[in-house]
Amino acid sequence: MTFEKIPYKIYLAEEEMPKTWYNVRADMKTKPAPLVNPGTGTPMGFEDLRGVFCDELIRQELDNDTREIPIPQEIRDFYKMYRPSPLVRAYCLEEKLQTPAKIYYKFEGNNTSGSHKLNSAIAQAYYAKLQGLTGVTTETGAGQWGTALSMACAYLGLDCKVYMVKVSYEQKPFRREVMRTYGASVTPSPSMETEIGRKILQEHPGTTGSLGCAISEAVEAAVSHPGYRYVLGSVLNQVLLHQSVIGLETKAALDKYGVTPDIIIGCAGGGSNLGGLIAPFMGEKLRGERDYRIIAVEPASCPSFTRGKFAYDFCDTGMVCPLAKMYTLGSGFIPSANHAGGLRYHGMSPVLSQLYHDGLMEAVSVEQTRVFEAAEQFARVEGILPAPESSHAIRVAMDEALKCKETGEEKTIVFGLTGTGYFDMVAYEKFHNGEMTDYIPTDEELQQSFDKLPRIPGLE
Ligand SMILES: *Cc1c(COP(=O)(O)O)cnc(C)c1O
Repeated sequence: MTFEKIPYKIYLAEEEMPKTWYNVRADMKTKPAPLVNPGTGTPMGFEDLRGVFCDELIRQELDNDTREIPIPQEIRDFYKMYRPSPLVRAYCLEEKLQTPAKIYYKFEGNNTSGSHKLNSAIAQAYYAKLQGLTGVTTETGAGQWGTALSMACAYLGLDCKVYMVKVSYEQKPFRREVMRTYGASVTPSPSMETEIGRKILQEHPGTTGSLGCAISEAVEAAVSHPGYRYVLGSVLNQVLLHQSVIGLETKAALDKYGVTPDIIIGCAGGGSNLGGLIAPFMGEKLRGERDYRIIAVEPASCPSFTRGKFAYDFCDTGMVCPLAKMYTLGSGFIPSANHAGGLRYHGMSPVLSQLYHDGLMEAVSVEQTRVFEAAEQFARVEGILPAPESSHAIRVAMDEALKCKETGEEKTIVFGLTGTGYFDMVAYEKFHNGEMTDYIPTDEELQQSFDKLPRIPGLE
C-alpha cells in the first residue's frame, strides 16, 4: 500500500470550519419551483406557512437569493461536539478493489444519532427555541431523523413528538428507545391519535405505514397543538441549506491537499445529504468555474429520479401538506415491504429535482442485494459498518472505481457515507440468510400511482 502525503483521515482545524451555510439556489438559473397551496394552486408565502413551520425556517425555505447564510454561534458550538466529520481516503478499499481510482468518503456517522441528520436537527430545533416555542413534531422512517431531532431537542430543552413509521417502530425497537432516552415521545404511524391516521387505518387496515403517512400525522399534531411546529428531516430547501456544511467541509479538506474530485456520489432518499455534499461543487458548476460528474443513487424499489415524474405532488400520503414540484412516484406510493434498504420516500428535494431536470446531475438506481454486498465488503476493509442507505453510495462508488480499473483511469471519487448501520441488523440478517430479494415495481404499478397525481389547473 502506498501512503502518499494525503492522510487516511483529513480533519479541519476550528478556524477552517464553515461559518456560513451555502445556499445553492442563489446560483441556480432555474430556481426550484415554489411550494403551492393544493386548494388554490398559488405559491405559498411566509404567512401561509406560519401555522406549520417556524418563522426563521420559512425565511430560509423561501430564500432563493442569499448565497451565504451565517451559522449562528450556538449551532456552531453544537457542531463542535461531532464536527468536523472526517474525510477519509479509502486506501484499504482502493487496495481491495485494485483500482487506480482515488476514493474518498465523508463520514457523517460519528455521532450518537448515527447520521448526517443531526446537522439540520440542531438548526431546526434552535430556530424553534429562538421563537419561544414549546416543542416540535415530526415523522421518522428508519429512525435516524427522530433520533437526531430528539438529541437536538434534549440539548435545547424542547418537547419532541415523533411519529414513527409502524414497520420501523416494530423492527427497530432500539431506535425507539434511543429517542425516548433523549426525552422524545414516539408513536407508531398510522396511529389513532390523529384524524388522518384514523382515516388511513380505515382505508388500509393492517398497513405498515409510510413516511408520507407519518408526515401527515405530524403536521396535524403540530397545527392542532399551540406552541408546536412541524419540522422535517429532508426534502425541504432549508434542510439542504443546513446540510451544506457537509459539502463545505469536504471541499475545504480537499482544497487543503489540492485534490479536485471527478465524480461525487451520494445516496438519495429525500435528497438532503446529497444536496448538502454537492452544494459547493454544484455552485462551481452552476457558475461555470468547474465541472464535476454528480451521481444520485436510489433504490430500484423506490426509484423517484430514474422512473418518477417531474410534477407537482403532495409531500405526504394524507394530502394535507403543500404541493412540491419534484421527481415523484406519487404520494400514495409505498415501497414493497421486502425493501430493507431505506430511502423509502416517494418524492425528492425540489432543488435536486430541478438540477437533475436541467441535466446538471445524473441518477442511477441499484438493487438492494447488490447494495448489501457492497456494504459488507466495505465493512470488512474500511472497518465502518455502514447504514443501508449509505451503502447505495458505496455500491456506485465501487462500480465507478471498478470501471477505472478497466480503463486505467485515475479518477478521484468522493462519496457521502451518511451513517452507521447498527440498528439495521435485521436487514443485514436477511441478507446473510439469503432471504433478501430484489423487488422492482412494474410500470403498471407506477402508472397506478401516477394516475393519482394531483391535477391543479395552471400547474400541469
Ligand atoms: C435519512 C438518511 C438518508 C437519506 O436521506 P436524505 O435526505 O436523502 O439524505 C441517507 N442515509 C442515512 C444514514 C440516513 O439516515
